[in-house]
Amino acid sequence: MSSKVIGRGLCPKCGGEGSIVLKEISGKIYVYFKHGQKWCYVGPLSEVNLSSLILTLENYHSFTTKFKDIKKVFGELHMSKALMFVLGISLILSAYSLSTNVNLSGLALALTVLSVLTFSTLIAFYELSPLPRIKYSYLALILSKGLYYYLIFTFAFVAITFIASLPLTSPYSIVVNVQGNVLSYSMSISLSTLLLTSMVVAFLQRPLRNKGYIIYFIIPLSFVFLMLLGAIVAQDTLDIGYLRFLALSTMFLSAITIALAFAISTFINVLKSILVGEARL
Ligand SMILES: [Zn+2]
Repeated sequence: MSSKVIGRGLCPKCGGEGSIVLKEISGKIYVYFKHGQKWCYVGPLSEVNLSSLILTLENYHSFTTKFKDIKKVFGELHMSKALMFVLGISLILSAYSLSTNVNLSGLALALTVLSVLTFSTLIAFYELSPLPRIKYSYLALILSKGLYYYLIFTFAFVAITFIASLPLTSPYSIVVNVQGNVLSYSMSISLSTLLLTSMVVAFLQRPLRNKGYIIYFIIPLSFVFLMLLGAIVAQDTLDIGYLRFLALSTMFLSAITIALAFAISTFINVLKSILVGEARL
């Protein structure tokens, strides 16, 4: 027999507040309320609407797979409210994006913003869900081989995302222009590309927890690499003008990507606090 306190709530038997305890007895899970020394039996988990009883949740991360039924209960509780919240923001942002331009680049940016919001929401749900016990298992596997490997993986992932999202358009772009001695260098990167790259940065930061800032050092490296690759492919001479261009564009792109990644991470954390706050209502 194992038992686990999952949070606090209002007891349907006596009306008092207490700790909600799940007990597993010969393969079945039963819900109990504990008011100090006094215990109330509520019923088998399958017949109890936990979401209507719970005031606060605790120990998200200590659930075992034996309590997987709870995932369904909380999954729905979280989904319905948060999806509306995200939908609201998404629609406002889409409207802004579309109103800036009548052609399709505005639509592209709107859809990019929508996808970034959707992914952020998924991350928030994932991190709040009681299961699985090991979060980000694939990324954690790479991380378990060493931070060095994880940073190389991050570097590659960021570079691939950046290149893959280059065809995306947006009414807003970052333009870097440098006049060299002979040639002039110019580059335009759409906001859609930077948003998706930032999303990937925000995602790859999550398993690192409070060491996540390390990824910020990888960002300029990725951009320098991409720029040099571009120069080699174009067989440009690496003159002073190009090096100035390289430094300037790396600085701008890194600063914007890091700022956006920070904003996305903050959004995920705000979403999570809203979701946990809802469980208290
Ligand atoms: Zn009671």
